[in-house]
Amino acid sequence: MLTSDIDRFIKDGELIPLLCAVAELTGDRELIDPSFRPRLEREMVTIPEHAGLDPETARTAYARAAHALRTYFDSGAAAAEAIPAEKIIDFLTAGDGDHAELMRHELGDVEEPGWAKAEAAPGRSFVVGIVGAGQSGLAMASSLRRLGIDFVMFEAADRVGGTWRWNAYPGCRLDTSTLAYSFSFFQRNDWNQHFAVRETLEDYFSEFADREGLSGSVRFRTRVTRATWLDGQWQLAVESLDSGDISTVRVDALVSAVGFLNQAKIPDFPGLDDFRGETVHSAEWHPDVEYRNKRVSVIGTGASAYQIAPAIVDEVSSLTIYQRSAPWMLPAPLYQAEVTEGRRWLMENVPSYHRWLRLWEVWHSTIGKYALAKVDPDWTTEGSVSEPNQRFRDALVANVRSQYEGREDLLDAVIPTYPVGVKRMLRDNGVWARTLKQSHTELVTAGIESFDADGIRTVDGVHHPADLVVFATGFYGTNHLGTVEVIGRDGQSLRELWGDESRAYNGITVPGFPNLFCLNGPNTGLVAIGSQTFMTESALHYVSECLRLLLETGSESIEPTEKAYREYIDWIEEGNRQMAWGSGSERSWYRNARGTNTVVWPYSLLTYYEITRHVSPEDTVLVERPIRAVSA
Ligand code: NAP
Repeated sequence: MLTSDIDRFIKDGELIPLLCAVAELTGDRELIDPSFRPRLEREMVTIPEHAGLDPETARTAYARAAHALRTYFDSGAAAAEAIPAEKIIDFLTAGDGDHAELMRHELGDVEEPGWAKAEAAPGRSFVVGIVGAGQSGLAMASSLRRLGIDFVMFEAADRVGGTWRWNAYPGCRLDTSTLAYSFSFFQRNDWNQHFAVRETLEDYFSEFADREGLSGSVRFRTRVTRATWLDGQWQLAVESLDSGDISTVRVDALVSAVGFLNQAKIPDFPGLDDFRGETVHSAEWHPDVEYRNKRVSVIGTGASAYQIAPAIVDEVSSLTIYQRSAPWMLPAPLYQAEVTEGRRWLMENVPSYHRWLRLWEVWHSTIGKYALAKVDPDWTTEGSVSEPNQRFRDALVANVRSQYEGREDLLDAVIPTYPVGVKRMLRDNGVWARTLKQSHTELVTAGIESFDADGIRTVDGVHHPADLVVFATGFYGTNHLGTVEVIGRDGQSLRELWGDESRAYNGITVPGFPNLFCLNGPNTGLVAIGSQTFMTESALHYVSECLRLLLETGSESIEPTEKAYREYIDWIEEGNRQMAWGSGSERSWYRNARGTNTVVWPYSLLTYYEITRHVSPEDTVLVERPIRAVSA
């Protein structure tokens, strides 16, 4: 039975991770022979089939893996001499030694040095406040649990899940790979979708919270509105969303896990208040939004619109999409596909196949499209930033053209004019073209002039009637920590310090704001590489190291030096200027009015991994605990 399943399903396995998993299981070193190594390029547009192995070699490799598996199970799963994980990682990365440690971490189940308990001075109580019980807040809480540090979490919603709890619009799902988005320390082998739908992600995070026993430490339906550094602690004003009562909670350190896409942006269109139909922002969608058989207008063509419009198009009476600039789309045929029965079988029956599969996804997203987004200062062709970037553009344009056969009239509008890499690309399996090509869909590129009672008027004088207007117009993404008024040492306001230019050392800490740690903070967003989870996990490690140092040195507080902060900002600026998303004058939500990019991380994932491994003593100020009179 098992043997026939192996023969039936082996080809459903992604070749390289399959070889890794079977090698680890069976100890068969031939499976990771150099002749089977992946052949990926740094400037690849898509991952080639079988990781670039020629068909004959790939066939041999699959046969070898099937044989090794059959032999292993036929012999009663006899233990073989183990191959060290490092050796298998070396095979998977085709000998890239630079990333060996990062990849070992990403494989998961690694005892991190930072996970040993932090030793506080006897009798010292130390509590961390975490704002937000989404992906990063939950991960922080579980790290603190490992460190043996007490914490309390505040969450405005009535359950965990963060962005996946709030964004309940039709079609909402991941647009990075499910596996790479999942935590390295909470991997699953039963994913149904390559890009998980939001309900699956909500389940994943609640399961994680349950496994770690975190929900009991969350104060749901509460909002932290103000945090003030006072006498060596953060004094929090906490509002109950049910009673409206405000209470004060004191914590020793504060972690912002609020995310940076939590403040919905609705442009201030003239006449909006006169509109008599229904309006909703993508992030505020609720079950009563009535779109079926209605004339629906969707404003925006970013990641949210891209998911909403195709999900509702077949049920609305008309769909009008307002586009200011067209999005670039990366071909992703599996974007809405279910994981095949064969691959599920392999994940469930070949131990660790899911872990190697995740590592494989992490690996090619680590290389990602970084090289393709790098600016060549000598390149002068408009619409691209380098020769490889132009080639990438050509490949994407060819793909777009192939989707609009019979509707070539749409091509001018749907091919972006700006270089690839200026903004995050959407995942394209053809649903956007299908939506735009429907006879009851209209793509409007004329700017919006105003609203009136019945709809929207564009600058070309055309009136577009609407029953429902969906604002898929994004968020105030540069306004980090914008929902909390943070007052640091000497009464300094973080909002005032930052203005429209939020910055943080390592994307995490700010001088003058002791024991304040931002997760998904300034300049930690990703455009052409990786999954945001990687950035979160790296930041978690750094925060854990800071807290350990704080407690073990008996200090009261930790913060970066002003000098380190300033130099860090310059370094980030310099990096961003060299990338498509930070050069030129193209508008995006990552940039403020002066074009400064305060959202995107400009360097490689390896660089972020390295700077978040250790606390640099020369960049750090540890303040001793003063002896304070104890109030009665
Ligand atoms: P977004 O990417 O900022 O897109 C907003 C859209 O609204 C853009 O097309 C923008 O046009 C348009 N717009 C904004 N103001 C406008 C105005 N005054 N008039 C006309 N059009 C206007 O927002 P989003 O789609 O909500 O996505 C935000 C981020 O959330 C994404 O970049 C992604 O990181 C994340 N996200 C992820 C997922 C996922 O993983 N599944 C899903 C959704 C969102 P311009 O492009 O011309 O500015």
